[in-house]
Amino acid sequence: MGRIAVIGFDGATWRVLRPLIDEGRMPSLAGLIDSGSSGILWSTTPAVTFPAWHSMLSGLNPGKVGVYGFAQVDVGAGRYVLNTVNSFRGDPVWRIAGEYGLRSVVINVPTARVEPVRGAIVGGPFTAGRLVYPREYAGLVREAGYEAYPEELSKSMLHRGSKPGMDSVRKAIGSRFRVARLLLERMKPDLLVMVIFVIDNLQHFYWGDSIVEEAWEYIDEELGRLLKELGGYNVLVVSDHGFTRGTSTVSTTMALEEYGLVTVKRRGSKLTMLGGLVKLGARLGVARAARRIPWLYSKLANMASRLQQGEWVGAKALEAMIDWRKSKLIPVDSLLYVNPRACPRREECLSQAEEALHGVSGVKTIHRAETIYTGPLHGAPDLIVEGETGVDIVDSPNMEAPVVEGLVRPGWRAIHEPQGILVASGPDVEPGRRLEANIVDVAPTVLAHLGVPLYDDIDGAPIPGVAPDRMPERPRGRSLAARRAREALRKRLKGKR
Ligand SMILES: [Zn+2]
Repeated sequence: MGRIAVIGFDGATWRVLRPLIDEGRMPSLAGLIDSGSSGILWSTTPAVTFPAWHSMLSGLNPGKVGVYGFAQVDVGAGRYVLNTVNSFRGDPVWRIAGEYGLRSVVINVPTARVEPVRGAIVGGPFTAGRLVYPREYAGLVREAGYEAYPEELSKSMLHRGSKPGMDSVRKAIGSRFRVARLLLERMKPDLLVMVIFVIDNLQHFYWGDSIVEEAWEYIDEELGRLLKELGGYNVLVVSDHGFTRGTSTVSTTMALEEYGLVTVKRRGSKLTMLGGLVKLGARLGVARAARRIPWLYSKLANMASRLQQGEWVGAKALEAMIDWRKSKLIPVDSLLYVNPRACPRREECLSQAEEALHGVSGVKTIHRAETIYTGPLHGAPDLIVEGETGVDIVDSPNMEAPVVEGLVRPGWRAIHEPQGILVASGPDVEPGRRLEANIVDVAPTVLAHLGVPLYDDIDGAPIPGVAPDRMPERPRGRSLAARRAREALRKRLKGKR
């Protein structure tokens, strides 16, 4: 039992790291692998940042966490829900560790809430509101040049085709490691959790480009510097999911539309209305007039060409295009929800949807929620569509066909895959093992190192060889939240007596 550091790389994959290690370009990670154990960490289904990091750091599957992607559907309310860091149920390891008097430092975790903790939390890419807890470290974080999500590395900038310079990549990566080193020195935490998120975006947009390799080399350089400060710590290097080149795209919306299971109001949509205006304008000679006003002309031309290609539609735009009275299923990304308004017999619609998607080229499996999730399944989809390796499952209503070659997300070259990476090394880790673990096993492994008892409702289990042999006993009771509720009740009852 002892201190532990969890170093997370969003979207890290052996597909990229293995060749770099073999070429001697990542000596720090190579050293960690040689002195410890390494292998595969399987992600959540779907394999996405939301919910994967929270499932990893709480040990709970999405069915208990209540988050299944960045967006999900509230069929009762007839709307799409965009998840935030406040959407996750269940306690992350630093909250639990704090209850046992242990100190944590948490940096740039995509699913972490900046909240009071024993230790410090520095917000990540999806943090809203204050960036640092406690406030006394805000200055240190600022002076380290730390930005939670640098604009030039965001998806919206990258998809506009603006390639970031290595200097901004180094600045973003370097500042996370710098904050980690500074807070390690100040606080001597029992638990350090630090994530590098921006590498995920770089891989989506620049897969195969030297900038991705250079970013990894720089990460390795910084990792080496951090490891020097982590003497005596057990170290886990993890990813929330893997990555692979994208080969084709399947639209669930369009595949289901062919069977009348989804109805999309294209005519009434803003996009189609714009298209109509452009066409009408052309007929009325507006285009000719517009040609004299260059910015207007280029705007119209740009709009028309985007419409022809089928512009990417975000979740909220799709919400407006879906006919909620007629659609038996409501798609969002790879998730499908049965819509009780249009489908009184759930089972019938489920099997119709399964039939419609079965055999669609690129679809690997159509999961029913209850076969891959456990727990209360708050907000859970009814079906989850998993693609073959390299196949992007999307909800786009305006592709040329339900299945197209290549990726349609603007600017993307690569997508996630379920198998990520796991490396473990340190005084309490058995070396030389070939590891294969599930993402929910990370939290119980961390708690075992910290000597904190596990609760019955944790889904994962300590990873053999990575977690110390002597396990703390499981106390009775379910979760920390349940224990807190019971304690509050006991206090109230005592007060009444
Ligand atoms: Zn991710």
